[in-house]
This record gives sequence, C-alpha cells and structure tokens, in this order.
Amino acid sequence: MQIDVINPATKQVVETLNRSSVEEVNDAVATALQSFETWRQKTSEERGVVLHAIADGIEASATELANLIVAEQGKPLPVAMMEVGGAVAWTRYNADLSQAPEVLEDSADRLVQVHRLPLGVVASITPWNWPLMIAIWHIMPALKAGNAVVIKPSSNTPLSTIKLVDIVSAIEPGILGIVLGGKIAGEALVTHPEVKKLVFTGSTPTGTHLASLIAKDLKKVTLELGGNDAGIVLANADIDKLASKIYMGAFINMGQTCAALKRLYVHRSKYDALCDALVDMAKAEVVGNGMEEGVTFGPVQNKNQYDLVTSMIQQARDSGSEVIAPELPEGLDGYFIAPTIIKNPPLELSVVCDEQFGPVLPVIPYDDIKEIMKDAIHKEFALGGSVWGEESEELDWVVGQLDSGTVWINNHAEVLPHIPFGGNKLSGLGVEFGVEGFLENTQRKVVSYSRT
Ligand code: ADP
Repeated sequence: MQIDVINPATKQVVETLNRSSVEEVNDAVATALQSFETWRQKTSEERGVVLHAIADGIEASATELANLIVAEQGKPLPVAMMEVGGAVAWTRYNADLSQAPEVLEDSADRLVQVHRLPLGVVASITPWNWPLMIAIWHIMPALKAGNAVVIKPSSNTPLSTIKLVDIVSAIEPGILGIVLGGKIAGEALVTHPEVKKLVFTGSTPTGTHLASLIAKDLKKVTLELGGNDAGIVLANADIDKLASKIYMGAFINMGQTCAALKRLYVHRSKYDALCDALVDMAKAEVVGNGMEEGVTFGPVQNKNQYDLVTSMIQQARDSGSEVIAPELPEGLDGYFIAPTIIKNPPLELSVVCDEQFGPVLPVIPYDDIKEIMKDAIHKEFALGGSVWGEESEELDWVVGQLDSGTVWINNHAEVLPHIPFGGNKLSGLGVEFGVEGFLENTQRKVVSYSRT
C-alpha cells in the first residue's frame, strides 16, 4: 500500500510514496549501525563542524524546504520559513555543545569523571504539526552525541524530512536514514535489536504503546506527548499589552502545537475586554492557502483533525456556549477552520477537558482563583501552563500550583534551544533541548581513578 501525501489546503495529492517493508527498515538500521562505527570515532568538535555544515545546507535550501512544508502541512509560507529558521537554530546550538568529561572529584584520594558515550542507533518518530523542526529536535542532539539516527516521519508530512535526509546524506552519508509508513515500519524500527533509543513526539496512546513495546529491552526513551495547557489571566493583567501574546500562544500553527495554550481562564473583570480583543484578532486573519501572498491562517493538517475539531465546536454550540468565529472566505476546498473563540463553555465540555489540537480556544470566566485552579490543573496532562498578570502574591501562588513541565509568565508556547522542555504526568517522559536534553542521547560512564 502506498502513501498519498495530501495538501490540506486543496485536498489534492502532492506525492505518492512507497511504504517501507520490514526488510527495508532492517537495511536502514544496518546502514546506520555501520556509519555509527566511524561517526562515533570523530571528536565532538569534528561532529560539531559537520552539524554546522548541515545547518548551512538547510539555509541554502530554505525556500525549497518551506515550500514542501506548506504543501504537506498547510501552514502559511512565513510560518514555514520560521520553522526552517528554527531548524537552523537548533542545529547550530547542538553543534556547539561540549561533550567533555565532567570532573566530579579531583582530590588526593581519587579522580572521578563522567564520560558521555553515544548509544548507537536512535529511532526517531515524528508527527505532522512541525514536521521539519521536530525532526531536527530529535536528530541533532543524537548526532552530536555520536549516534546514528533512523527517522520515521508521519505519513501525512514526510516530504520536508526526505529533503532533510538528502541534505544530511550529501554531507555525511549513512548517519541519518529514513523509513516511511505507519505501524508496520514504525514498530519494526523501534523494536529492532540494534536500536538503542526511541525519541517520539505524538499522541499519548501511541507514545505509551511504543514505550511498552521496548520496556523489556530497557531501551532509552524520550517521549513528548499530548497536553491540554491552561492559561490563567489574573485580575491585574494588562490586557492591552498581553492580548496579542495570548492569541499567538493559542493559535500558533492553527493551534496544532503540543504546547499551545488550549484552555484560557480569565478573571471576570477582564473577561469581556479580553474576549473582544481575541475575536478582533481572529477576524483580522486572512484564511487561505498558505502559498498565497498575504495569507496568515492555513487549514488544519488532515481530515481526522478537521473532523475532531469541528465536532468539538458543534458540541460547544449544542451546549449553548457562545461560539464566535469569522466567516470563511468563499471558494476554499481544504480542511479550513476559522480561528474560533468559545465563550462561557461548561467546564465538562470536551473542548475544555480534552486536547483540541486545532484553532479553537475555550475562554472560561472565573471569580475565585482558588476554585478555578482545581479545574485548571489537568488530571492527566502537564506539558505547559501560563499565568498572565503583574507581579503579585497571587501570581506566585498560581505559578506554585501549576504542575506542568514549563510554566510561562506572560507568555505561552515559547521554546528555545537552550531551555529544557518536556512534560509531566501523561504529557511525556524525559526532556528535549538544552544540555539536559542532549544528555538523554548518551550513555553515562563513570571513570573512577583511585590515587591512594
Ligand atoms: P496522529 O494520530 O495524530 O498522527 P500519532 O501519535 O499516532 O498521532 O502519530 C505520531 C507518529 O507516530 C506518526 O509518525 C505516526 O506514523 C506514528 N505511529 C502511529 N502509530 C504507530 C505505531 N503503532 N508504531 C509506530 N509508529 C506509529
């Protein structure tokens, strides 16, 4: 069976590709393993030079990569260019990381150092929302640490990853392989005996399933899974200053971002003013095909997501909530959903309790911060959370209550190469980015030299 890559703005097939067989997966791992043996012998600095060359290659192909991202994913071209820019920034950050042994004790009794060795072949499985950037997040720290990688992109969005693999292969053949498909290729890859680590970004059911498949082999795993991030706007928040950041935190990438703001709790004194500002920003979006000049808001990536998000919006309408969205332009034939604000939703509504992963934001008024915090802290997910307001005891209290991997103050969904990022509860295991994320791609070896 083949993979049809669909442009979500037109529902047209962009490209048809073959799924990898189990034999092809085995071949990809064998090639990666062979390359690993020489790649691991290079010094960390030598690998850094290669990563900078890869970053140069990505920059040189920026327009082509961005066009592929728009065609397969749907986001507007400027957002795709931003994604390519992020790919370059994360590659260069990892290129410059040090892998020198850490000295824990240097005394008359002993010299103790921690060496960081590569693991071998790392399997990367990526989703369809930020296909290039998330591939880079998985690949670059693993390569810098001396591993080889075999990646399986989402069948919805493999094209930019295929191009990335071409760029890397032209510079350092063999260290980055690719397989295509879903369950068959993915599970063959993850369970291959020579694969020593899985780095996965996607849904919680798939991530936990894959982790369970490899638990008995004690393979390392880094999982970045679902979230249902809450944002809490305090009574003292300056709405004029913050509204556009709140909007961006929720609607970035048409809401299809793991760490996007997915539920907004607003003190009643600021509720109408903030909702009005968010609706104005939604109305100012130019919805359309991301390849067209001036378009600021594209479709959601696939039919399943379109069906899920539209059914959540319908449930909100049925519940009597106020659903506010601009009219879609005429003549569009893709998976378009206008940026939608839901006012006064019941707390038990699906769009509040479950991850929508799309362009719809439930906005909930509150009077008592202590009461609403019980709802804002999600029972299952704890990826990110945010508080919006001026410095105050109340703000500190909310920060202290939130149990997510990241708490932003007056911001949401900001990720940076040098800041660790990961989820608690069912939102993930381990972290990515920063030194901590890099070290998840290594095997610790303590070397203890007795001097007595
Ligand atoms: P979605 O359903 O939104 O695509 P998933 O978490 O299922 O979210 O997908 C994330 C990634 O996991 C994709 O690359 C997808 O192909 C892959 N995937 C899904 N199921 C499996 C599986 N059983 N084994 C390996 N990979 C899988």
